[in-house]
Amino acid sequence: MSEWSGTVWLGAVALVLLLTLGAIILVYLLMRLREVRQRLSDREAEHEVVLDRLQENENRLRAVFESEPECVKLQSADGTVLEINPAGLALIGAEQPEDIIGRKIFVIVAPEYRDYYRENMRRVFAGESVVYEFKAITLKGRSCWMESHAVPLRDARGNIHALLGITRDITEHKWAEEQARRHQSELTRVARLSTMGEMATGIAHELNQPLAAIANFARGCLRRLRGGEVTCAELIVPLEEICQQADRAGEVIRHVRDFVRKRVARMSAVDINLVVRSAVRLTELESRQQYAHVGLDLAPQQPRVWADSIMIEQVVSNLIRNSIEAMAEARSPHREVTVKTRQLGEDAVEVEVSDLGPGIDGALIDQVFDQFFTTKPDGVGMGLSISRSIVESHGGQLRAESRPGGGAVFRFTLRAIGRTLADNERRYSLHH
Ligand code: ADP
Repeated sequence: MSEWSGTVWLGAVALVLLLTLGAIILVYLLMRLREVRQRLSDREAEHEVVLDRLQENENRLRAVFESEPECVKLQSADGTVLEINPAGLALIGAEQPEDIIGRKIFVIVAPEYRDYYRENMRRVFAGESVVYEFKAITLKGRSCWMESHAVPLRDARGNIHALLGITRDITEHKWAEEQARRHQSELTRVARLSTMGEMATGIAHELNQPLAAIANFARGCLRRLRGGEVTCAELIVPLEEICQQADRAGEVIRHVRDFVRKRVARMSAVDINLVVRSAVRLTELESRQQYAHVGLDLAPQQPRVWADSIMIEQVVSNLIRNSIEAMAEARSPHREVTVKTRQLGEDAVEVEVSDLGPGIDGALIDQVFDQFFTTKPDGVGMGLSISRSIVESHGGQLRAESRPGGGAVFRFTLRAIGRTLADNERRYSLHH
C-alpha cells in the first residue's frame, strides 16, 4: 500500500470519527433542546394552571363578595369608596355603583357622627380592627343606625392600602333596645306600686312625729291663752314651730304623691304565653338563688286577651316569686314551680301558677289576699292584694287553693278577645 493511500485511509477514518462525533453532539443537543422545550411547555402548563387557579379564586371571592348579604366595601384612607357589593348598594340606597364608588363615604354618615367615623377610620389605617356604630342617612334620605366591622387590608409588602368594612343595618335592634328600656322603666313604675305597703308603714311613722309636735305646741298655746297670762310675742315661737311641723308633714305627703303616680292601664290584645315567658325571665335570678325550677305548660294557639301586659306580667312574676319563697322557707327538697295556660271555653284564658311548697292553711286561704297579711318575717303583705285588684280591674278573678298532697295553686282568668276585635285591631295597626 502506498503512503498516499495510507494517508487517505487515515483521513477517511478521521472524517468518519469526526462525523460520528458531530452526529453524537447533534443528537445530544437535539435531546437537550427537546428537554428544554418540554420543560418550557411544562412550565407554561404549570403557569396556566396557576393562572386558572388564581382566576378561579378571584371568581370565587368575587362571587362571595357579590352574593354576601351584608354590605362589604373597600375604602381608601380619605374615605373614598373603592368597591362595594350589591348588598352595600342597597343598604346605602344607591341605584348603581357610580352613585357611591369614587365618592366619600361621609355623604351617608349623619353630620354629628362624621368626626367619630373619621377617628375610627384613622385607627384602622393605624393597624387596628374596630367595631363602631353610627347614624346614617342613606342616599334616598332614610335615617337609620349602622354597625361597621372594619379591618385594615395590607398589600404583599405589608402596607395598609385600604379599609375593608362589613356594615349592617341595626335600626331594628336599636329600636328593640329602646323598647326594652321603656319596658324596664314601666316595670319599675309597677314595682313602685308594689312597695306601696312598705311606704304606708313608713309614711305613718314619718307623719306621726310632726303631727305629735303640732298637737303639743297647739295644746301649750291653748293652755297659756286660757290662763290669760300670755303676750302675743310669746305665742310667736310655738306658732312658728307649728307652721314648720305642718310644712314638714306636707313635704312627706308630696314626696309620697310623686312616688306613687297613678298608672293608667294600657290595654292591648296580648298573647298571654309571651307575657308568662317574660314574667319567668323576671324571676330568673330568684329561682337561681333558691335552686328552684320554673316549668312551663303553655297551651298553643290561644285567643289573645285584652290586657295591660306589664300589669299581668307583674301578677305572674309575683305569684312565681311567692312560690319560690314559700318553697325556700319550707326547705322543700323539690323546688318546682309550674306555670300553665289554657283556654276556658270561648271567652276566657286561665293562668295557673302551682308549686311543691307547704301550701296554704285552709283557714288562711282567703286571708292571704288581705292587705298587710303576711307570714314572712320581712314580708309586706301587699303582693297578693295588688295582684287580685289588677286581675279584677281586667274583669277576671284570682283564687288560691291548697293541694291535698302539699303545694299551693293560684289561678286567674282573663277575658279572651273575640275574632272581630282581633281583626279590627290588626287592621288598625296596619293602617296606623
Ligand atoms: P308577702 O309576699 O309580702 O308576704 P303577699 O301578699 O304576696 O305578701 O303574700 C301574702 C302571704 O300569702 C304570704 O306571706 C304567704 O303566707 C302566703 N302565700 C303566698 N303565696 C304562697 C305560696 N305559694 N305558698 C304558700 N303561701 C303563700
